[in-house]
Amino acid sequence: MYDLIVVGGGAAGMMASGIAANRGKKVLLLEKNEQLGKKILITGKGRCNLTNDCEIEEIIKNFPDNGKFLYSALYTFSNWQLKDFFNKLGVKTKVERGDRIFPISDSARDVVEALKRFITDAGVEIKLKTSVDKVIAEGKEVKGVKDSDEKEYYSSNVLIAVGGKSYPTTGSSGDGYTMAEELGHDISMIKPSLVPLKTKEEWVKELQGLNLRNVSATLIIDGKRKKEEFGEMLFTHFGVSGPIILTLSRDVVDYLGKAQIKLSINLKPALSYEQLDNRLQRDFEEYSRKQFKNSLGDLLPSKLIPVIISLSSIPEDKEVNQITKEERQELLELLSNLEVTVIGTMGFNLSIVTKGGIATEQINPSTMESKLIQGLYFAGEVIDVDAYTGGFNLQGAFSMGYLVGSSI
Ligand SMILES: Cc1cc2nc3c(=O)[nH]c(=O)nc-3n(C[C@H](O)[C@H](O)[C@H](O)COP(=O)(O)OP(=O)(O)OC[C@H]3O[C@@H](n4cnc5c(N)ncnc54)[C@H](O)[C@@H]3O)c2cc1C
Repeated sequence: MYDLIVVGGGAAGMMASGIAANRGKKVLLLEKNEQLGKKILITGKGRCNLTNDCEIEEIIKNFPDNGKFLYSALYTFSNWQLKDFFNKLGVKTKVERGDRIFPISDSARDVVEALKRFITDAGVEIKLKTSVDKVIAEGKEVKGVKDSDEKEYYSSNVLIAVGGKSYPTTGSSGDGYTMAEELGHDISMIKPSLVPLKTKEEWVKELQGLNLRNVSATLIIDGKRKKEEFGEMLFTHFGVSGPIILTLSRDVVDYLGKAQIKLSINLKPALSYEQLDNRLQRDFEEYSRKQFKNSLGDLLPSKLIPVIISLSSIPEDKEVNQITKEERQELLELLSNLEVTVIGTMGFNLSIVTKGGIATEQINPSTMESKLIQGLYFAGEVIDVDAYTGGFNLQGAFSMGYLVGSSI
């Protein structure tokens, strides 16, 4: 008989088990994979952006739907405490652009190894290659769990920390939703979020691999401008990706199949329309005797030039001094409003997080215990909380795990 069985050895599960065991609790951690923290290893492109160096209120804002649900968790175990926690485990950290915190070693493996040391030293019993199928409850009280070999494990408390449905190859394949649903919990519609987008236009494929910095993208739904992001984006063989696209994707997924979704890319957002026009006129003066196709090199990356030319009605061999004001204005429009049509996402296989999950209304935010089943806890991405990129998702998972570990 255990005091706590933790299902899922990811960020939330490892934190919860170590904290509980350090408080003298008898803890069993069950992990489906042959290793712990498989997803953490791929976070931040293998560097692990483990939290963000900002105020707690700012972290809450970065969980757009249910940020307030995390109030207790984040104030109980803040980003500063998380930083200290890892420093004490030998993982020194640094702050990068956007206040993102990474290990100085740039190694996500160091984060996983530190967590493994933490739970082993705390005395957590770890069982790998064990996939839990079911939570055992009698009436409204948790009794334990059953694995896929029908083996039962008994405990007065169970934490479901199995993650969401994103990147299922890391182990998080959505098992938590079924287990929670079987015990009467509501699951708000789950969707891939922070996910690359598929686009309709053929010309996008020609730009595959082109990374653009300092551009803006505006999400347009049925002709209405909804949201604008400024920063970096990437063209791919299927559409668009990169930080600003991933951020916008969180809104995009709500409109798929229901509305016309466009992205308007401004290639020169730092310049006003007049400034861009002046800039274009200066370039056209300088290259007045050249052909149009040879006049854009100062303004655009070379991969983009043939695409912009073909999207415009200006013949590529037209001498620049022959370009009319109307043609220049058409070009200006393309540079500041390059439109692509979104037709889908790359799905859960390539989404950074899962939007939706176990309804927060059925979980006590001060402990993470289910309001329906006594002794049953939830933490991490399996709950209906998801954030933008920046280290917020991991911070949320660690804070929720900490809260469970100190609540049971
Ligand atoms: C490519 C990528 C990059 C990311 N980069 C960042 C980043 O830099 N910063 C950031 O903050 N967030 C990042 N995230 C998001 C972040 O990794 C997750 O939000 C976070 O790991 C969620 O933690 P968790 O503990 O809830 O779930 P997970 O870390 O997914 O852990 C869940 C664990 O449960 C196990 N499990 C699942 N089902 C069962 C079962 N039935 N029985 C037993 N075990 C089970 C899984 O194998 C897994 O080990 C990234 C995500 C991806 C996909």
